[in-house]
Amino acid sequence: MHYVSTRGQAPALDFEATMLAGLARDGGLYVPERIPEMAPAEIAALAGAPYEEAALRVIAPFTGEAFGEAALSDMIERAYAGFRHEARAPLKQLAPNHFLLELFHGPTLAFKDFAMQLIGQLFQAALARRGERICIVGATSGDTGSAAIEAFRGLDNVDVFILFPEGRVSEVQRRQMTTPQEANVHALAIEGDFDAAQARVKDMFNDHAFRDAVGLAAVNSINWARVLAQTVYYVTAAASLGAPHRPVSFTVPTGNFGDVFAGYVAKRMGLPIDKLVVATNQNDILHRCLTTGRYEVEGVVPSISPSMDIQVSSNFERALFDVYDRDGAAVAQLMEEQKARGGFALSQGALARLREVFASGRASEEETRATIARTLEATGELLCPHSAVGVHVAEAARARDVPMVTLATAHPAKFPDAVEAATGVRPALPPSMANLYERPERATTVPDDLAAIQDLIRERLRR
Ligand SMILES: *Cc1c(COP(=O)(O)O)cnc(C)c1O
Repeated sequence: MHYVSTRGQAPALDFEATMLAGLARDGGLYVPERIPEMAPAEIAALAGAPYEEAALRVIAPFTGEAFGEAALSDMIERAYAGFRHEARAPLKQLAPNHFLLELFHGPTLAFKDFAMQLIGQLFQAALARRGERICIVGATSGDTGSAAIEAFRGLDNVDVFILFPEGRVSEVQRRQMTTPQEANVHALAIEGDFDAAQARVKDMFNDHAFRDAVGLAAVNSINWARVLAQTVYYVTAAASLGAPHRPVSFTVPTGNFGDVFAGYVAKRMGLPIDKLVVATNQNDILHRCLTTGRYEVEGVVPSISPSMDIQVSSNFERALFDVYDRDGAAVAQLMEEQKARGGFALSQGALARLREVFASGRASEEETRATIARTLEATGELLCPHSAVGVHVAEAARARDVPMVTLATAHPAKFPDAVEAATGVRPALPPSMANLYERPERATTVPDDLAAIQDLIRERLRR
């Protein structure tokens, strides 16, 4: 299996090299040369199967020769062993034909653990075989950072630097990043928003001298392995609800388009997904783009669903690559326009093709709070604000005859202030995290300045 860049100018790589590279050297994102298909009988066989078995069936065709099947299976077992729910990604019913896919039973209470726990295993195997070490630099709107730190803390051959927007993550999110005491973990509070943090990370990848000198590796959803790990729960959820014989729709709370793109991959593999509904908060660039055909970056407005406070949605590039018939030059030109002028217009054909698969909606702050309150009253389920954005949008988007699955992307206890303000109920952290508020914190504030951040990384890096 080979992977090609969405901008058409970087060499094709195998799975392991793609995973270690993160961003392609032409600034693009890696995608598989072709998407392996699952036969209807293979999908049907996964109904009722353990999550780990489904993961092996979905992931193995993409990894090619990188790992033997037994080794891959062991890594998948280890990745999900620490989850607090036997089903890993349980489905709960909210209303007739509306289901919630709970993705917050991993160690840091957000869906990011599904990919990061597996990537931790895959990276370790690849590095051990190559005798190499890497320096992970990631940007986070809140949840990727803690999930990455949890997956890589204490490893000898990995240093982890996480840039988070200062003052714009919840206290639980911040403490999950600042309380690990291992010497290989560095939480950096950048004086800027998430888009600034993500842009500096991309700058570091595009500085090839720096990239090679420190052995840079990416764990943001620009890393293909993350998207791949996330396709699994679309398959398990759909199989539980009757796929391949019955179509299913999904509503996905979205920021960087990574999670919903994983759903798109599942659809391309043959899963009968009717609609993928993109749910945004007031930072609604993706909803506006799917509505008007114009992708226009505006300033980020902080919200009660901070993990989606994003305007430059990096994985959208992967979808564009497909709807522009895999024309890397056309995608590169759109991305140039975005960088130079803050936006671009989609061709009519590209927009029509996106709309065949994706629908969209947005939730205001008020609608988000009202959805948390209403859902608690109607079902007893306490939603985090991101999941509430999803439920609000799903209620408007769903059709009576197709089951709708809304992804619950984080545990409510990660955002206790917003949940309490909406319901009067303060959600408690799981027992394993109960002393989070007492642990000492450690973080470094950095300016939104590439050279300053690079200097700090060079200084802190263990050789
Ligand atoms: C990361 C995150 C999202 C957005 O996911 P993308 O892959 O960036 O679209 C939504 N909700 C929560 C809780 C998250 O952590």
